[in-house]
Amino acid sequence: MRYLIPIVLFIAQTGMAQTIAECKHRFDKYLNLKGALSDRVQFENNAFYILNDKKEKEFAVYTNETKVLADFFENSSLTEQAKLYKLKGLNKLSKKQLDSLAMTMNDDSKLPKPNSSKPLQNIRIAIDPGHFSSNYEDSKVEGKYVKLVNEKSRKKDTITLVEGQLTFLTAQVLKNMLEEQGAKVILSRNKENMTAFNQTYNDWYKYRRNKVLDSLKQKKELDDDKYKILKQFPKEKLFWAFFRDYELLERAKKMNSYYPHLSVIIHYNVDDKNSPWTTASQRNNSMCFISGAFGTKDLAKPANKLHFTFTIGKTSSAIRNY
Ligand SMILES: [Zn+2]
Repeated sequence: MRYLIPIVLFIAQTGMAQTIAECKHRFDKYLNLKGALSDRVQFENNAFYILNDKKEKEFAVYTNETKVLADFFENSSLTEQAKLYKLKGLNKLSKKQLDSLAMTMNDDSKLPKPNSSKPLQNIRIAIDPGHFSSNYEDSKVEGKYVKLVNEKSRKKDTITLVEGQLTFLTAQVLKNMLEEQGAKVILSRNKENMTAFNQTYNDWYKYRRNKVLDSLKQKKELDDDKYKILKQFPKEKLFWAFFRDYELLERAKKMNSYYPHLSVIIHYNVDDKNSPWTTASQRNNSMCFISGAFGTKDLAKPANKLHFTFTIGKTSSAIRNY
């Protein structure tokens, strides 16, 4: 009997040229969920535009620029991207400017030459084992566990599965398999039951929580009211109100700084709805998520706007056919 379905997400980081129509297709089909981003992007025949808060055009990507800009956004720092975003604005880049932009990029994202004995030689892969708990007690905070009870012999046959443990063990197996093929692999969290901050959530809550909240307040990333509320929250509440997203950013930061050719995010979901369920399932699903899941609020942050621009302009594709 099957109970859980492994969900492995692949995000290949291969920026490739595409037409504006293809960018629009990508945006409509995958990125603009229920029209949430319609006020942020405008497509015309020969360009797409990122709009500012007043819905005015702020940055343009023209047909002949898609390839170079996709490569640039993939192979440059946020500071360089912010500079280009501001300087370029709605201007069209000349051939000379495009050429010089192409020349300034590093070659980190290019796939290494295939090696016949080790087909993944030197390919960088980042794996994110979803969640962090590896035991039932800790997983109660995340709510990522199932208890399967055999009705006939209740005590004997109860099986407890903790998603954070399954994803971590899967990541270990996958890492070894990929390394055998020559890949260079990192994990977003390196030990069982640990968060991406290299400590358990319990320890983070005990020893680091106040420091983090204080510093965010100081940097004005948390306003006074929210700060006061979060400071009072017990462990479970703070997890849902703050830590979950905060830790996810740390995972993304780690993975991005590795410039992976491919990212793999592992979860075990019940089905495509993943809503509360009470019985085991015979279904066998695979889910695929497309990178770039930004909401309107996210785009208030300049850095997210840059990531988002890149997401529309690139094509995710399989890394290679082996
Ligand atoms: Zn999950």
